[in-house]
Amino acid sequence: MKFLTHIECTKCEKKYSDEEVLYLCECGAPLFAKYDMDKVKDHLKKEDLPGRTPDMWRYREMMPVTNEKNILNLGEGYTPLFHTKSLGREIGLNNLYLKDEGLNPTASFKARGLGAAISKANELGMKKICLPTAGNAGGAAAAYGALGGMEVIISMPETTPETFKAEAKALGAKLLFVDGSIVDAGKFLKTKIDDSWYDVSTLKEPYRVEGKKTMGIELAEQFNWELPDVIVYPTGGGTGLIGMWKAFAEMESMGWISSFRPRMVSVQAEGCAPIIKAFHDGKEAAPEWQDPSTVAAGLRVPKAVGDFLMLRALRESGGTAVSVSDDELIKGVKTIGKHTGIFAAPEGGAALAAVERLKDSGDISENDRVVVFITGSGLKYTDTISNLL
Ligand SMILES: *Cc1c(COP(=O)(O)O)cnc(C)c1O
Ligand SMILES: [Zn+2]
Repeated sequence: MKFLTHIECTKCEKKYSDEEVLYLCECGAPLFAKYDMDKVKDHLKKEDLPGRTPDMWRYREMMPVTNEKNILNLGEGYTPLFHTKSLGREIGLNNLYLKDEGLNPTASFKARGLGAAISKANELGMKKICLPTAGNAGGAAAAYGALGGMEVIISMPETTPETFKAEAKALGAKLLFVDGSIVDAGKFLKTKIDDSWYDVSTLKEPYRVEGKKTMGIELAEQFNWELPDVIVYPTGGGTGLIGMWKAFAEMESMGWISSFRPRMVSVQAEGCAPIIKAFHDGKEAAPEWQDPSTVAAGLRVPKAVGDFLMLRALRESGGTAVSVSDDELIKGVKTIGKHTGIFAAPEGGAALAAVERLKDSGDISENDRVVVFITGSGLKYTDTISNLL
């Protein structure tokens, strides 16, 4: 059964066939997968979900892979949502929740995006996968590529923590190192590949965002179809933020949730905060950040093609944008660890530090239901953060 109808530009609305290999629209903007939502609604019922597999493919009618045999599944998604009372008390919040994405395959939520994109590449008959990465995306691409019997090339900054390099190598990928950021890694990769390679760069193909949107569907399911008041999301390329926003609209069109939306909060590191700056400057796009630097590798993204989509979602939701220092985000990792038993990636520590700031400024109040995304496990960062803890 097919639910996907076509692919559409997020800016100029030009339509494309979902049977082609697609990257950005002719106009340069990201493309979104579109579904026949009435048909999805007829075939996928909330009541069916408890009987389904505990992974992101439980929502398969809202996902872009048509033939189930093409799905490459390592058990991604359906991560626990913890109501953390001790951590909440520490900050003065009664309803603080952590979504532990470190429990995904390859220990980060990148498994959702790359699981979806590489499954779709498999459906489209692509046998070669490539991408530039600042860290976790490389391991996830290598994992799904390996499962699909594909060749994988990954380019990454030379400064990427060793564990990420080791993981991608262990999973059989070929690595290229560059002096610079993920933007430079992307430029270098382009000189090494031709059309036979499927480039799964963030938002440059339409399907990673489909995997990431399942975080939004899961939150709705875990909150019994009443979304929380605030979602705090450590932001790099922004696929998760944009994906959840897309999922909310899709679920509303199916009558699964009301028109209520959480306030979306984007968090970046002070050493690389293009989205935060653009938000507070009132801009619709975010210029490239010069000399990006932070230990939170996933946030070291100086330029994002989906910048305008993130900024729009933050504003439409009545949310905000916060940058925190590396000292604060490391302190966040320790506070989470001590109160919850979860060793969070520094990006998760950044999200907690932002919550503390917003509680102090009154932007978050004590009874708000607040979800902090722990986007990955701290274990992969030990060689860069152990002496800071
Ligand atoms: C990639 C990454 C992010 C940023 O995610 P986007 O969806 O690209 O904004 C945050 N945290 C971790 C651990 C990551 O690997
Ligand atoms: Zn367009």
